[in-house]
Amino acid sequence: MTEKQYGGASSHGFKGKSLESVATLPKKSIESKTTTNSSDEENSTELSNESIEKYKKAGKIAVQTIAYIKPLIKSAMPLLEIAEKIEAKIQELGGKPAFPTNLSIDEYAAHCTPSYNDESKATGLLKVDLGVHIEGYIADTSFSIDLDNSEENKKLIEAAESALKEACKIAKSEIQIREIGKAIETTIKSKGFHPIQNLSGHSIEPYELHSGITIPNFDNIQEKTILPGVYAIEPFATSGLGSVKDGRPSTIYAIKSEGNVRDPFAREILSFIIEEYQTLPFCLRWLVKKFGTRSIIAMKRIEEAGIVHQYAQLVESGRGKVAQAEHTIILTKNKKIITTE
Ligand code: MN
Ligand code: MN
Repeated sequence: MTEKQYGGASSHGFKGKSLESVATLPKKSIESKTTTNSSDEENSTELSNESIEKYKKAGKIAVQTIAYIKPLIKSAMPLLEIAEKIEAKIQELGGKPAFPTNLSIDEYAAHCTPSYNDESKATGLLKVDLGVHIEGYIADTSFSIDLDNSEENKKLIEAAESALKEACKIAKSEIQIREIGKAIETTIKSKGFHPIQNLSGHSIEPYELHSGITIPNFDNIQEKTILPGVYAIEPFATSGLGSVKDGRPSTIYAIKSEGNVRDPFAREILSFIIEEYQTLPFCLRWLVKKFGTRSIIAMKRIEEAGIVHQYAQLVESGRGKVAQAEHTIILTKNKKIITTE
């Protein structure tokens, strides 16, 4: 998944609060903040070998899942089937989905996932964005596929993929973050398209898909160096205006703060969410699968109580088509590991 910038702020309600201040958040993610030596608050210490192994395992499962699904995706295949096949494969390989599979078409840049009763079909320029985690250690990766046999789609995909390649090539700890953005911007523009400027890559920490540091898709002129850590780099290329705006609600949620619900069934669902997904994104489809359609009204209660944030689908502002490519990359002081390659 990607991070949308709202005038400098992150798209995540719980960002900036300490996890400890959010009482409904799970113990495990609080422990992972304090007991792993993966990083300190500044994300500036080296990762342990044990953490690196878990990140690599998650990455390997993501790679295997893409190798499995990519040849299966055909025009008119139900999106629900694609999402369920991906998520089942991840589990079969010993991982868990780190977030609901995003299947976003044409001008929809990101944050679309099939509903539990979805009947829509794969078509056009399809972005498949998937995540795997091993005990909270995340791999976040995506690919785009042209189901229209369109020259423009192919060129957009090529632009996003080249930009990712250039960005991964120059990424290393201690370089200026803006240099990565610049490489992405330059590559995409050289192909005649625009990078989407208000979508960005992000730092990753255990159970935190977007852990605070932003990797821009353009030269944002900020003097900040990149510290050792784990990052998702994700260029978006578009034939439109180069920005996205919020569309309809996505049915993808994440816990954002503490709160109570009175309804016993909603409370049961909330306990399950906290235990199973912790601070990671999840979707209504997963809850309906486990608890039935009663989950719909329960999630409404939980959302009204301000406990979860529902992501909006992200639509290109000029309704241009959008291609995306993404890798997760580990940067240590002198090593670079692309876990999803
Ligand atoms: Mn991402
Ligand atoms: Mn992603």
